Amino acid sequence: MLKSVRSYKNAQAILFRYLREHEMRPSKVRDMVLTALCQLPQPFTAEQLIKACEAEHISVGTVYNALNLFLDAHVLHAYKRQQGQLATEYELIAGTPNKIQIICQKCGRVQNVSSNLITTHIREHKYSNFNMQHFTLYVYGECRVCRKKTINRLGR
Ligand SMILES: [Zn+2]
Repeated sequence: MLKSVRSYKNAQAILFRYLREHEMRPSKVRDMVLTALCQLPQPFTAEQLIKACEAEHISVGTVYNALNLFLDAHVLHAYKRQQGQLATEYELIAGTPNKIQIICQKCGRVQNVSSNLITTHIREHKYSNFNMQHFTLYVYGECRVCRKKTINRLGR
């Protein structure tokens, strides 16, 4: 719960800055969508968010509009995951600790991995005119289970 409050505050600060820069007004409904998504396990799908917003009587269209705005404002990022069919998942950028994730393109399985070498390298890299705050690195490939299936299929 404490974690989601912190994510919410970070996300809200980023959103407000974006709204100010684009001369847009804050909206109460959008704020409710932001609150709801900060309480979801990350990453989440649009369907999960729609379900969470149903209780607040927020329409599907409003949820999608908010999602698109949050993507533009870099509150969220989206990535495609293959899970039976290609699904889009969303994740809060704000307040996420540095992480490295390996993603199987066949079954969609996501695992967190740690590497001091990579983390140190990215953190200590000199970015020109840019102050790095945190990062998420996605490494795509094939997991062991799927790899085994492929080998068995080929072996027959
Ligand atoms: Zn797999």
